[in-house]
Amino acid sequence: MRFSFILAGILFFSSCGNAQNQAKVAKEKYEVQKSEEEWRNELSEEEFEVLIKKGTERPFTGDLLENKETGVYTCAACNNPLFSSNTKFKSGSGWPSFYDIIDQEKVKLIKDTSFGMIRVEVVCGKCGGHLGHVFDDGPKPTGLRYCINSVALDFEPQK
Ligand code: FE
Repeated sequence: MRFSFILAGILFFSSCGNAQNQAKVAKEKYEVQKSEEEWRNELSEEEFEVLIKKGTERPFTGDLLENKETGVYTCAACNNPLFSSNTKFKSGSGWPSFYDIIDQEKVKLIKDTSFGMIRVEVVCGKCGGHLGHVFDDGPKPTGLRYCINSVALDFEPQK
C-alpha cells in the first residue's frame, strides 16, 4: 500500500514541470555536493562506478552480502546511516536486501526507466549517490525489498 503511494507520487512528480526545473531541483536537494572529479579522488573505482555512475555490481560478489553482524549500514560516499541490520534479509538475489530504511528521510526514490524497465531507484538522501532499487516483493511488515549494491554501503558494527 505504502509502496503504491510512493510510486504514484513519483509518477505524478515526473509528469509535471520541465526538465530544466527538475535539473534545478536535483542540484539543490543534496546536502553533500561534490564534482565528479572530487568523487573520483575519494572513492574506489568500484564505488565510483556504482554510486556516481549508477552501475550495478555483479551479483553474489559483495562483501556485505552474507554479513550477519548487528549494526548499521551507511552510505559509502557520505556516511549517511541508511539501513539497520535488523531489517536485512536473505532474498536470494545476490545483493544485500533490506525490507526497510532507518528513516524515510535518509533516501530519495526516483523513477528509473533505463534498460526498458520501470523501476524505482534508491539514492542516498544526503549525497545523491546511487544505492540500488526498491521492489514490492519483500517480506512483511513492509512488503518492500531494497536491493542494494554492497559496494555502495559501509558497515558499522554495534559497539
Ligand atoms: Fe550518501
